[in-house]
Amino acid sequence: MFNRVTIIGVGLIGGSIARALKKHQLCDEIVGYARRENEVKKAVALGVIDRYETSVAEAVIGANLIIVAVPMGAFESMFRQMIGTISPDVVITDVGSAKTSVVNAAKNVFGVLPPGLVPAHPIAGTEKSGVEASFDSLFENRCTIVTPTELSSDSAISVVCDFWQAIGAEVVRMTPEHHDQVLAATSHLPHVLAFSLVDTLSQMQEHSEIFRFAAGGFRDFTRIASSDPTMWRDICLNNKDAILTSLKQYEKQLKKLEEAIAEQNGVKIEKIFSNAKNARDTHIIGG
Ligand code: NAP
Repeated sequence: MFNRVTIIGVGLIGGSIARALKKHQLCDEIVGYARRENEVKKAVALGVIDRYETSVAEAVIGANLIIVAVPMGAFESMFRQMIGTISPDVVITDVGSAKTSVVNAAKNVFGVLPPGLVPAHPIAGTEKSGVEASFDSLFENRCTIVTPTELSSDSAISVVCDFWQAIGAEVVRMTPEHHDQVLAATSHLPHVLAFSLVDTLSQMQEHSEIFRFAAGGFRDFTRIASSDPTMWRDICLNNKDAILTSLKQYEKQLKKLEEAIAEQNGVKIEKIFSNAKNARDTHIIGG
């Protein structure tokens, strides 16, 4: 139970955390910060947060727990604006989709990593943005990866793990570096491919016809290309090395498939497709 939780960035993820905190009655007061006053006003009107501040420095005063939920490119600036007004025993966590860069941003700002800093990443979301898209069950039965730094205190790690479990998530611990490799392959690469495919098709001359006849498969594969471009730009910039490694592996595999099609090699094509089907059917349950 927290006296005051401050959420920096009350959008889809920050708003959903606030709603979940309220649903599970985990805090007395939720203070929100967002860049555009209209957005936080909306969050108060919707009952997602209790009050707002338009300055980060003001928003974090008296908070026991601070959750940073802005696009990754804004993290360093958010940390910098907290200096001087956070209490010494505050626990700081975040929801950023890449973790090594959060640790580096904190090092740049604080010099020494604060023992209260415990980065995290909920593996939950939608392709929608903004507080109006937030909902209180977003994290239920979903996984949250908690990535303590080498200086995170045991008590802060417990606070962050307990908090995610209390709002329904299953907590898994990893190092920030390992997180970034795993997510590059499972989330960042598919988003890069979906954006790139739709971008390619949209530039073909007959693109209106392509989109007109797009069937279920196209919709399934490209849904995530409707995700927020700014957020995904920041993820690519903040997990560059791991994403490039995954992309290179993928390019090699795609080349093999291209060769098999050019050679009219049905055996090779079917082997690649069967391997993919078996892997998906084994690991992805429920569609
Ligand atoms: P969102 O709905 O667009 O919300 C972003 C929030 O950050 C808004 O409150 C926005 O305020 C604020 N913001 C945007 N740019 C800012 C800036 N330059 N400085 C200060 N505040 C800024 O985004 P989201 O989907 O919640 O994503 C937030 C974080 O969660 C990202 O780091 C993302 O990597 C991570 N994440 C997202 C998902 C997902 O599926 N969406 C899943 C897991 C983790 P205004 O409205 O005032 O602009």
